Amino acid sequence: MDLPATTRPSQPTRPCWREIDTQAFRQNYRFLRALAGKDIECLAIVKADAYGHGLGLCAPAGVEAGAQWLGVTSVEEGAAASAACPSARILVMGGAFPGQGAELAANRLTPVVWDPLQIDELAALPGLPPASLAVHLEIDTGMSRQGVSLDDLPSLLARFTASGPLRLEAVMTHLYASDEANGATTPAQLARLERALSVIQATLPAAAPRPEFLSAGASAALLGGEFREIGALANRFKLRPLLRLGLALYGVAPRFDPPFGSGLEAKILSNSLENLRPVLAWKTRVTSLRSIPAGAEVGYNGTFVATEPMRLALLPVGYADGLDRRLGNRFSLLVRGQRAPLAGRISMDQAVLDVTEIPDVAPGDEVVILGTQGGETITAYDYADATETIPWEIFTRIASRVPRVAVGL
Ligand SMILES: *Cc1c(COP(=O)(O)O)cnc(C)c1O
Repeated sequence: MDLPATTRPSQPTRPCWREIDTQAFRQNYRFLRALAGKDIECLAIVKADAYGHGLGLCAPAGVEAGAQWLGVTSVEEGAAASAACPSARILVMGGAFPGQGAELAANRLTPVVWDPLQIDELAALPGLPPASLAVHLEIDTGMSRQGVSLDDLPSLLARFTASGPLRLEAVMTHLYASDEANGATTPAQLARLERALSVIQATLPAAAPRPEFLSAGASAALLGGEFREIGALANRFKLRPLLRLGLALYGVAPRFDPPFGSGLEAKILSNSLENLRPVLAWKTRVTSLRSIPAGAEVGYNGTFVATEPMRLALLPVGYADGLDRRLGNRFSLLVRGQRAPLAGRISMDQAVLDVTEIPDVAPGDEVVILGTQGGETITAYDYADATETIPWEIFTRIASRVPRVAVGL
């Protein structure tokens, strides 16, 4: 595969980079697809530059692994995905913004719609044959973010005329608490979705094409087992279920709260934890080393003071690379297969490791921020816990100046 120049630096560069294992991505897709079963379509979410993993690497890998659908946030991301994967269907989950209809249609993107203004703009696009522009209609089943309410649904449906250019291809909703094991939210959402489907069945103009897909459920709905209820609901309305998978494709299983005790859900999850492989590793190298005496201060404001003679390794990675400033004095990175604590504040472009306890650390030694070295691993959840956030944010916060190197081609 041809890679964009930025993914394979031919010149020596500042040593702070992401390794993207496209083979792991393909394997994860195939594993999740098999878990869902052949009757369920699995859309590969590659929004936000493939969760920071690189759209240009992951979208083609997903298509190679069998994904027919890709999910992005915007028309801009959709145009990039369509250039990388001309054969894929591309869902623009954030919808088209005013004035973007022509670009959307020119790139054959499929928008999520929920607002009459969006539908009116798309329906007014010139030159589109009847039913030629597929749209996915999002229902607000409780998240109060995107989607049409049940009350507003009938008047929105009246806009899908048989002669108009829009075709209602899928009914969609977003489950917002699939990570609450055995929680009450998803059943309530699916009950509202069922009501919406009945309304659609009853009020869609008779001559208008029928929807084909029921699009609901993200990684947690698959790994937590809710995909079976989604499948059953889809069956009752003769629709094909379409899951929209993000995080798990990148090799990280969402965490469930409370954790599953035993039973089928626990088995699915532990099987997934064994099979999913992280796609991204974030690495750097030791720039130089210094010895400091007891009492020496380290970094801005001297928040770290040496309690004994210490050995420090300087790293070319800082918060401008996405290394969270809150990790200073409270997280460790891997060098020589061991955990070395971050000493002092993280600077914009640099950080300092305490390597006093690790013999023979030398300039050029590889340091792992996320990933495995020797027998030790730093997971996205380790990092997320230390900064009180979630793996999704960890991945998408790695800065664009951190180049990607494709491995596992
Ligand atoms: C990001 C996103 C997903 C994927 O979620 P994961 O938890 O990463 O699997 C699914 N649906 C919508 C609408 C999304 O925005």
